[in-house]
Amino acid sequence: MNDRNYFIGADIGGTWIRVGACTSDLKEENLTIKTAPTLKENKFSISSTVCELISEIMEEKGISKENIAGIGVATAGPIDMEKGEVFNNANLGFKIIPLKEPITGTFPGIPFFIINDCNAAVLGIHYFEAEEREKDNIVYITVSTGIGGGVICNSHLLLGKEGNAAEIGHGKVAPKSPHLCNCGARGCWEVYSSGTGVRNRALEQLEEGIYNSEILLKIVEGEVSKITAKEIFQAAREGDELSKKIVDDCIFYMMVGIGLVNNFYDCSTIFFGGAMMKDSEQLLPPIIKQFEEDPIQFTINHPPKLKLTRLGDEVGLRGALTLVKYKLEKNPIVPLE
Ligand SMILES: [Zn+2]
Repeated sequence: MNDRNYFIGADIGGTWIRVGACTSDLKEENLTIKTAPTLKENKFSISSTVCELISEIMEEKGISKENIAGIGVATAGPIDMEKGEVFNNANLGFKIIPLKEPITGTFPGIPFFIINDCNAAVLGIHYFEAEEREKDNIVYITVSTGIGGGVICNSHLLLGKEGNAAEIGHGKVAPKSPHLCNCGARGCWEVYSSGTGVRNRALEQLEEGIYNSEILLKIVEGEVSKITAKEIFQAAREGDELSKKIVDDCIFYMMVGIGLVNNFYDCSTIFFGGAMMKDSEQLLPPIIKQFEEDPIQFTINHPPKLKLTRLGDEVGLRGALTLVKYKLEKNPIVPLE
């Protein structure tokens, strides 16, 4: 029983922490997952939750520390990969959140790897989902509170100098725009196409009062504070004029952003995930049509295939597990230490 035949993965988001253990064959049927809310009491709350969830799974599955080959952590960034900590993240509550030190302190002697969540996601898709002929050049795009990306180009995961490559959501699609992004700049892609952006643009348009918004206001029973991207997409489906305009803008800037991504990385396939993909039936078909029928308006390169990831909420966790596998087998997709 002393075989090191288990991988541990963790995915840390602003709302949920997911931890999974899987046999080193990474067979989906051998994966056990536990989740807990992301506590923000102090800067060690997150690492403590990760360690508790790992211990719970170990106990349930009868896994001992000696059975664990490696621990991979995927987290919302930005991250300092060397120090193994998150810095300046607006959603996790503290300026610096140490992960490597407290987790390796609880589980000493086990190899530990850390990566930002979108970079993890594209690794997860590479191993669990992408087809053989496309997998050397794939991009993952999450459209959620913000917009983030992960890129595998020529069979290499792009990390950049500190592990934060492919911050595509802050690409400027309208630099002279009056609309500010959370990052402080103007006209970032996520100002128009993220959940936060869609909500903010709708609230502005409501103030201006140019478009009819009866259906949207009826959905939220007149309470403007209840409006989120979800209600805006629903109202657009039901014919609300204001919501249709906001959704059209969201889709237009998705095309702009995707075009830039394909110009930069010349990818075979882009996989989409994130909370906004709950409305993928409204979002993706017009974008797919544009890139099939008239891609040149948005990209000079041959257009990529556009797909919804089937891994859903597990995509980051699957990526964390894949990171452990690729690191331990010294797969050149991920950089060597
Ligand atoms: Zn920005």
